[in-house]
Amino acid sequence: MMVEPALGSNPTANNPTPNDTPTSGGASNPTADEQPPTDPAQSTAPELGVPAGADGAPGVNGARLSPADQALADSRLRASLSPSRAADFKTCPLLYRLRSIDRIPEAPTPDQLRGTLVHAVLEKLFDLEAAERTPPTAAGLVVPQWEGLLEQEPDLANVVPPGDRAGFLTSAHALLAGYFAMEDPRRLAPAEREYLVSTEIDEGRLQLRGYVDRLDIAPDGAIRVVDYKTGGAPREAFEARALFQLKFYALVLWRTRGTVPAVLRLVYLKDTEICDFTPDAEDLERFERTLIALWAAIAKARDAREFRPQPSRLCAWCAHHALCPAFGGTPPPFPDVFDAVVEDDAAVVTVASID
Ligand code: SF4
Repeated sequence: MMVEPALGSNPTANNPTPNDTPTSGGASNPTADEQPPTDPAQSTAPELGVPAGADGAPGVNGARLSPADQALADSRLRASLSPSRAADFKTCPLLYRLRSIDRIPEAPTPDQLRGTLVHAVLEKLFDLEAAERTPPTAAGLVVPQWEGLLEQEPDLANVVPPGDRAGFLTSAHALLAGYFAMEDPRRLAPAEREYLVSTEIDEGRLQLRGYVDRLDIAPDGAIRVVDYKTGGAPREAFEARALFQLKFYALVLWRTRGTVPAVLRLVYLKDTEICDFTPDAEDLERFERTLIALWAAIAKARDAREFRPQPSRLCAWCAHHALCPAFGGTPPPFPDVFDAVVEDDAAVVTVASID
């Protein structure tokens, strides 16, 4: 069962958790850098395939495959689910469809871009020797990391007009100050950062993938999963989504490492609050069944080509009002992804490894 401490508490002080012990001066980070996430808001790579036949349904265009061909197709077309996309479907099936099937581009908002920038600074900070991870050092990383983002993606300059640039960077500094108010990175030695976790459930029919912001592992093997939250959205609207994401990571880590994480930690930089959750195996088993059922619901909606809008408070942050009937819009025609799979094997890979 998940134990949720009162918001506003900082469990660090009285709840011994992995790697809060001081590192010796100059301790290095044994990290394995992975590809950064592609979702600027969630810090999690959106991953969700739209496989034909992967759920046991007839294959492409209803054609039955031989067992050998089916096995091959299953291995190539295995459903892949990320916490972001799973949470999309739970939030609003139409939102899931627009993001994962239609793949409508979404320009990042300034808030999302600020989150990406701050994540990049924290990532870089932990590249440094422990003693160097100070507030002035972090502050000095903001502009170089911002320039690095623009170099990678020049269009991001349009998200923050030149006149707003100074305020934007100042707000990034404020989030970093919030981080230092809660944690002293000189005392931490993360085992992993921006860490890709992946496993298969449902007898190999569903692959789970996602990026963990930070993984701390104590000398006794206790695992702490850490996720930084930088957004300014109302907490109550996003808390459930954040917890869903953490349970997702906990399940994958449990399945791959054989250890249920001791702590799932949300670090809210803007509000300078830490929320810790303690999962147990029973809770994660239940969550696994939830994900399998969720995937079945996605497959059913996909086969019926019916992804209904589900208006909620989160609509205020949705970029797709113009395509949403709840706001007087019209969704695009449902893409015939299965035809694409038939026509082009390369498309199979593309379709099956969306994002
Ligand atoms: S506006 Fe709301 S109901 Fe419409 S797609 Fe977005 S989240 Fe769903």
